[in-house]
Parts: sequence; C-alpha cells; structure tokens
Amino acid sequence: MSEVIATNQTILVVGGGISGMTAALEAAECGKQVLLVEKNPTVGGRVSQLYKYFPKLCHPKCGLEINLRRMKANRNLRLMTLTEVTAVEGEAGNYSVTLKTSPRYVNDNCTACGACADAVEAEFDDEHNYGLMKRKGAWLPFNQAYPFRYVLDPRIIGTPDADKAKAACKYDAIDLDMQEEETTITVGAIVWATGWRPYDAGKIQPYGYDRFDNVITSVELERMMDPHGPTGGKILRPSDGKEAKDVAFIQCAGSRDKNHLKHCSRICCMASLKQATYLPEQYGEDYKGTIYYIDIRAIDRLDDFYQNIQKDPNIKFVKSKVASITEDKETGNPVLHGVDTEGYHRYSNPHDLVVLAIGMEPSVPADGFPMEVVINEEGFVELDEKNGAFFAAGCSSDALDVNRAVQSGTASALRAIQVVNRVAGAEG
Ligand SMILES: Cc1cc2nc3c(=O)[nH]c(=O)nc-3n(C[C@H](O)[C@H](O)[C@H](O)COP(=O)(O)OP(=O)(O)OC[C@H]3O[C@@H](n4cnc5c(N)ncnc54)[C@H](O)[C@@H]3O)c2cc1C
Repeated sequence: MSEVIATNQTILVVGGGISGMTAALEAAECGKQVLLVEKNPTVGGRVSQLYKYFPKLCHPKCGLEINLRRMKANRNLRLMTLTEVTAVEGEAGNYSVTLKTSPRYVNDNCTACGACADAVEAEFDDEHNYGLMKRKGAWLPFNQAYPFRYVLDPRIIGTPDADKAKAACKYDAIDLDMQEEETTITVGAIVWATGWRPYDAGKIQPYGYDRFDNVITSVELERMMDPHGPTGGKILRPSDGKEAKDVAFIQCAGSRDKNHLKHCSRICCMASLKQATYLPEQYGEDYKGTIYYIDIRAIDRLDDFYQNIQKDPNIKFVKSKVASITEDKETGNPVLHGVDTEGYHRYSNPHDLVVLAIGMEPSVPADGFPMEVVINEEGFVELDEKNGAFFAAGCSSDALDVNRAVQSGTASALRAIQVVNRVAGAEG
C-alpha cells in the first residue's frame, strides 16, 4: 500500500455508500483533500443491491455510474477499500485516526478477467445477494464494483485454492503475501456514513422467517429481481422454484414495535409499493398483490406514487398488523392470520409468497464507534456539538431514502468543509 498522505486539512469519509460517496465527492469537488474508506472490497453500499428506485422506477446503476465517473476524475479524492477506522483521538480540526486495512490478495494488475474464480473450487455465501446464492472464493463483488478488481476470500488463503488462483493469473495480480496493515493519519473532520443493515427477520418469531421457505424479506426480493441475481430476475418461491403470482407484503415487519425497532424505518411503505410494480412487470395481468399495513407513509411527491398503485385493480390493501403466519403443508403457502381493522373481521389468507418489509437499523452498533459519539435511542448519530467535527451522513443519522441520504451527505460535507477552512484560516 502506498503512503497515505493526510493532514488536518483532510476530510475523512467513512463508508462508501450513496451518502458517503456524495459527501466525499462534494468536498473533493470543492477542492478539499478527501480520504474515503470503505470496509467492503467495493463502494456502492446497499443501493447497489436494489433493483429499482422509487418513485421513478429507474435503475440505481445509472446514479452509481455517474458517481463512479466523478470519483475517477477527481484527484482530490483517495479511496481505501477493505478499510475500517479502529480509533479516533483528538478534537475538531485535529484528529488522529487509526485505520486497519485487510488484504485483498489481488493487486492493481488485475484486469478482472475472472481466471482466478474459474480456478478456485471453494464457494461461500454471496454477501451481495444476502446469501441467496454462492460465490467463489475468488470473486468480483458485483458487475459495477469499484475498484473493478477481484478479491480472494481470506478463508482460502493457505489452501490449494489460493495456489490455483495464483497459477491461473496471467497478469501477476495475485499476491498471497499481502498482510493486514495499520495506518495512523491526521484529519480535520470526519463524515461518518456507515449506513444501515436490515433488521434480523428471524427475531420476529410469529412470522416464521426461519421456519417457512416462502417467507422472504424485502431486501431479498430486490436481489431476486436482478437478472444477475439468485433467480435470474424472476420472483420464484424458494420452496419449489414455482413462479409466485400471489404475493403478500407485510408492512412494519420489525419496525414501530416495542419488541423490535421502535422507530418507523420510513422507506418500507414506499419500498413495498415499488415492489408491487414488479409483479405486473413479470406477469402482465396475471398477478395478485396484497399489502397488509398499519398506515401508509407516503408524503409529498411520494403520495402520487401511492395513489397510482391504489388504482391497480390487482393490488389490494388490507389495513391490519398481521398477527402470525402458519404454513399450509400441502401447498407450501404461507397463511396470514389477523384482523382487518376496516370491518373488524378475522382472516386467514394463503399466498404464494410473503415479503416482510423489514426495518432499517444502523449498521454500526452503539458500542462499535471508534470514539465517544452522541447517538439517539435507536442508535442513529445525533447532530450534537459534543461530537465535535464528527458528522453523520445518510442512514447512520436516520432511516432515509436515497434522496434524503444524498442531501444529508451534502450537508455533512459542508459542515466538514467549514471545519477544515477554519483550521486553514487559523494557520494563516
Ligand atoms: C427493501 C428496501 C428497498 C429500498 N428501496 C429504495 C428505493 O427504491 N429508493 C430509495 O430512495 N431508497 C430505497 N431504500 C433505502 C436506501 O437503501 C438507502 O437510502 C441507502 O442505502 C442509504 O445509503 P447510505 O450510504 O446512507 O447507507 P448504505 O447504503 O448502507 O452504505 C453504507 C456504506 O458504509 C459501509 N460501511 C459500513 N460500516 C462501515 C465501517 N465501519 N467502516 C467503513 N465502511 C463501513 C458499508 O459497507 C456501505 O458501503 C430501500 C431500502 C430498503 C430496505
């Protein structure tokens, strides 16, 4: 790894999702020196795992491509992947930050030809597809990964697979001697953009996510829709591979619930409305969607999107918090039980497939921060003077959609710029 040059004029951005990329680009395009660190082998974050964006129903790939082009063109921005912050000391305008970089075992000679992956036998759960499919022990995280370079899984190092990967590489790109590295740098301000993770659906015991094959999560449905994903772009029932034409969406799965996440994750209503449009995309007119909801939270321009979906005669809305799910053993259908609060009648409704609109929680747990930080009850970072020049962006500050995550990335970049400008002014 070449020497990392950073000073108290440098802005450190932690997390290379859409909000971290935005913060890093905005600051770098203002002429500031920016170091962007990402713990995964590629930037992109969770939007790279989405099939389409509400409300426009465009593909996230376009936005990602534009940001990658801006990143490649900007000399003020330096990216370190496979890197995490382990310690922060100091104060606003002068932080000493310790970084830990894990080995990729692949250097920048890599042309992404894929010969290493062909040579390797070991397979592991594919993180990009939430474990719905396997990937090789040498792999490219996804087809828009940046850097566009393979990675060797540390679990194959020291096994014959690692030697096979090295032997298969014509470009001398595999370096099995790479080691974990620790670097200490000085920066003036920190933008913390570590994002969110899906709430663990297995904890919502009455919905049987761990017991019933045909109960999946909203993030898994996004992966199913990807033509390069686990089902080749088809909505298939995990139990038998049949097309799922009658799909139920359960809102607030783990959100607004004192036993799980107390907060409203804000995007789940819109995500399910969006996913309801995936059904006609697949099946023409031969589909049924049912959305079980407490209340639909779609405000401003998002309300138009909601109203359009309501006009679809194949999509039904049931105002009810689903109490439990059982399984019809014969058909494999999940059966939803509850009370429809409009009319107060009990139902037991079978569907081909159930999608849990799972809540979003901060990806970094309360005890996972490298310095003392003021967080709220839900674990999101507060905008608080006590945090000095440590500014949260995107979903590390709240459950946000992409639009708001980008705005928050820009706002954090501006705050960080003000700090390093003050430092520059004070030093004359
Ligand atoms: C089912 C579903 C569908 C959705 N669909 C839409 C949609 O259609 N439209 C829309 O606007 N929004 C949608 N969203 C919301 C969208 O996913 C978020 O707004 C977006 O991901 C926020 O980006 P972010 O950069 O804040 O966080 P993330 O995307 O989570 O990015 C965080 C980045 O930080 C990295 N990171 C984490 N921890 C560390 C660490 N310790 N050190 C270094 N790096 C770290 C991660 O690897 C990741 O790259 C959806 C959400 C869900 C659950």
